[in-house]
Amino acid sequence: MSTGRLTIDLDAIAANWRALDALTSATVETAATVKADAYGLGIGPVARTLANTGVRTFFVAVAEEGAALRDALGPGPEILIYSGHMAGDTDMIADLGLVPMLNSIEQMTRQFEALPGAPFGIQLDTGMNRLGMEPAEWAAVRDIAMRMGPRLIISHLACADDPESQMNRQQFRTFREMTEGLGVPRSISATGGILLDPRFHMKMTRPGIGLYGGLPFDKAASVVRLSLPVVQTRDLEPGEAVGYGASWRADAPTRIATVSAGYADGILRAISNNAVLFHRDTPCPLAGRVSMDLITVDITHLEGDPKSLDILSPFQSVDDLADCAGTIGYEILTSLGPRYHRRYSGTGE
Ligand SMILES: *Cc1c(COP(=O)(O)O)cnc(C)c1O
Repeated sequence: MSTGRLTIDLDAIAANWRALDALTSATVETAATVKADAYGLGIGPVARTLANTGVRTFFVAVAEEGAALRDALGPGPEILIYSGHMAGDTDMIADLGLVPMLNSIEQMTRQFEALPGAPFGIQLDTGMNRLGMEPAEWAAVRDIAMRMGPRLIISHLACADDPESQMNRQQFRTFREMTEGLGVPRSISATGGILLDPRFHMKMTRPGIGLYGGLPFDKAASVVRLSLPVVQTRDLEPGEAVGYGASWRADAPTRIATVSAGYADGILRAISNNAVLFHRDTPCPLAGRVSMDLITVDITHLEGDPKSLDILSPFQSVDDLADCAGTIGYEILTSLGPRYHRRYSGTGE
């Protein structure tokens, strides 16, 4: 086999959910965010594992993801849609029992005209200026919305990964001002918010990245291992170059392994000449630019040629690799390409 092998540890995902759940009190429901195919790890196996672990409420970005999730989970678990009720979503929402988080007066009108009496939630903007109704908008329609009986009201923190940020407190205050006394369950925390002050936990949390082993949950168990097969090896004389642009040159006799995976597989080109792969616990530096299907690695210091090298493992987290590319673990995970052979380990039990 010449494609990379991506091993996803379902037990680690279950353990991460339990650990995040344990950080909040027993009265706080810990939901799960599984948008973007469970951050690239496969919504079916991941969501079934989480449902077996105790998750009753799942969040996805768009209704189409909700449909795939309903297919994977069957009836029962609640499926909430961050982008709300878009034109064309009505049948999916009604037939599959999805719950849109309404983001605007337009979405409210669409929901109440097409599906009066159907469950819905509300998303409020408290300063991120991305999704949700703003304070003035909400004040204008709040009474109408309340008469229709929202299940849940949410907002989202822009800076929850930075406990020092003033934004957290400001957004929390705005959210409370917009919702105090309404008697509807509230949620403002994703992974980052769980790790802030317990006041941010409110009635429900909805972590994503922490389940999948990413920061800011620094106590997360490692979830992914990505092993890339070595296609061939060769010896270079001092002065010889490697890869496109001849951007890496040997300054001593060097052994290079050519490894099967490239930027088409989510090995971001930005890590060219600036990352390591691992043979067991031994780092091996990337030499030269990342190509579409291949990368080249300096293995001079290894005894013998390895059959494969790991780019994600307990020795290199998604955030370690993200640092090399100047990005975040979220982007590393959601870039993992379709060519990998995905294997699930553990049962989530
Ligand atoms: C993606 C997302 C989450 C989950 O965030 P993490 O940082 O991955 O825990 C929660 N709420 C909203 C609105 C989101 O868009």
